[in-house]
Amino acid sequence: MPAPNCIFCSIIAGEIPCTKVYEDEHTLAFNDINPKARVHVLVVPKTCFDRLHESDESHTQLLGQLLIAVGKVAALTDITRSGYRVQFNQGKGAGQEVFHLHAHVMGK
Ligand code: AMP
Repeated sequence: MPAPNCIFCSIIAGEIPCTKVYEDEHTLAFNDINPKARVHVLVVPKTCFDRLHESDESHTQLLGQLLIAVGKVAALTDITRSGYRVQFNQGKGAGQEVFHLHAHVMGK
């Protein structure tokens, strides 16, 4: 069941369309609807979780899988040689709009 009012949960559930870049059992990656770079992909865990500063050892697998998926997305989108940025916005003050953990993967 998607978390109420979580747009990324609705995307994961297939209720809102996305342009999928990568998917595995634990993560989904799709193009940002408002890209800030030529390649701008969001990588999200399928489990709704948000605050990195509240994570603990129980999140080791989730966070590890997310970072592995980030690397796969970088390879799939051919930005490994040019270089790429990985950004996690945490909190409204940092510009976060969607409160479901996600990595922005951005490259030229
Ligand atoms: P953040 O500000 O870190 O929470 O980033 C949220 C990102 O989600 C923004 O870059 C939005 O452009 C993006 N976004 C919001 N809705 C969608 C959507 N339906 N499909 C793809 N990206 C989205």
